[in-house]
Amino acid sequence: MQTLSSNYINGQWQPVDGQLLDVHDSATGEVMARIPAAGRGEVDQAVQAARRAFPAWSRTPVAERQNYLAALLEQLKGRADEIARTVSCEVGMPIKLSTMIQAGVPQVSTGTVVKLLDDFPFTEEVGNSLVQRVPVGVVGAITPWNYPLHQIMLKIAPALAAGCTMVLKPSEIAPMTGFMVAEMCEAIGLPAGVVNVVTGLGQDVGEALITHPDVDMISFTGSTRTGNRIFHAAADDFKRMALEMGGKSASVILSDADLEGAVKGTLTQCYLNSGQTCTALTRMLVPADLHDRACEIAAAGTARFAPGNPLEESTRLGPLASAIQRDRVRDYIRIGIEEGATLVVGGAEAPEGLEQGYFVKPTVFGNVDPNARIAQEEIFGPVLSVIPYRNEEEAIAIANGTAYGLAGAVWSGDQDRGLAVANELRTGQVTVNNGKFNPQAPFGGFGHSGLGREAGKYGLEEFLELRAIQL
Ligand code: NAD
Repeated sequence: MQTLSSNYINGQWQPVDGQLLDVHDSATGEVMARIPAAGRGEVDQAVQAARRAFPAWSRTPVAERQNYLAALLEQLKGRADEIARTVSCEVGMPIKLSTMIQAGVPQVSTGTVVKLLDDFPFTEEVGNSLVQRVPVGVVGAITPWNYPLHQIMLKIAPALAAGCTMVLKPSEIAPMTGFMVAEMCEAIGLPAGVVNVVTGLGQDVGEALITHPDVDMISFTGSTRTGNRIFHAAADDFKRMALEMGGKSASVILSDADLEGAVKGTLTQCYLNSGQTCTALTRMLVPADLHDRACEIAAAGTARFAPGNPLEESTRLGPLASAIQRDRVRDYIRIGIEEGATLVVGGAEAPEGLEQGYFVKPTVFGNVDPNARIAQEEIFGPVLSVIPYRNEEEAIAIANGTAYGLAGAVWSGDQDRGLAVANELRTGQVTVNNGKFNPQAPFGGFGHSGLGREAGKYGLEEFLELRAIQL
């Protein structure tokens, strides 16, 4: 077990007095590390350090900032195995996937930013104006636990590229990669104060950051409930804001789709990271006459996702990240049963032999009412709701019928028909027939799923203000 007692502030590891927080191994429930619970004092020091570092960093030539980011990318590559293993223990993602996604995707997104800096138009001429894109200033970054390093790098890389400085508050449930990032910044010789990492609870460190008058922007990823609190708090001094929040994404299977492929593709997206994925396809909309067959395929497919030790190569479904999350998901499974949905497979009890740790049975509900709680609320666990529909118009209305709008999928034998339905979905991302992940595409949501976009050039633009100089 590791005990960390310092935070990274102004280029130094600064001891934090007081309480330590336990970080749990998701597969065993045991304490795997202890981290500092910092407070308002540390946040203030970190913000002041970022403020002092801002003038020099924002004037650093773009090519130099690009070199620092390229060096950070090398660090991410060099520590990939350690990252994958750590996140598997914290969050529960099976090691094979964790290597590809938890360790691999941050490399891809950071590499994308490095490349963008080759020719990003920080200045352009519009008539007699010089239109400049200048850094927002000091950024407070607050991240969740489900893809901890990915969410950190989606903020740090573009913020540094833009010329901003930052105070990062990683999730207290999966904080270890936050410490690693601080070590990497130190290793590459990033100037003091450009990136600061302060750990602790949302109600302490998070609140101190969102209400700090010297923070110019909050970039947040997490639950819609916390995003709502941040929106209100940051309004007092008109902080810039980027909010990436929850989802209840629909997978719309059209009548001409390859049913087996579409159901299996939906299941894979629903169970990814044990359902702890904001874009998880958790509502599967199927033509009413194909409903029973779709449920049979889903039940057979679910059998291939037996929960197991995330550190074993063959495991496809690991535990959830915390006891609270496990209990929450099990409560939702009970709610689904009480609401009258058909329990096709799974259930609220612990998977056999996996009473320790935070395991949940992958669960499929059939005949779910589109207005039921399990079809409207984000569960953040391996739970799929199958919803029958009568015609395409109804399918689109159901797909758009939640407060969220993060992602979605359409499956059809005819790409154009699939695209026509995708065009109707009020979400930030849609895949047609399993279209593959694109790190240059904007990521973010409509409605209660978010404000602003991350990734690619869109993510970089979030950290820039426009200034027009008329000549
Ligand atoms: P959460 O909102 O509980 O916590 C996220 C972060 O906010 C943590 O660092 C937490 O400490 C901090 N926080 C909590 N209260 C705060 C407060 N009052 N002020 C400031 N900060 C505070 O979310 P979570 O449970 O860690 O993550 C799961 C949620 O994140 C899900 O809803 C999921 O959909 C969402 N998510 C969204 C995206 C996206 O890009 N849209 C990506 C991943 C996760």
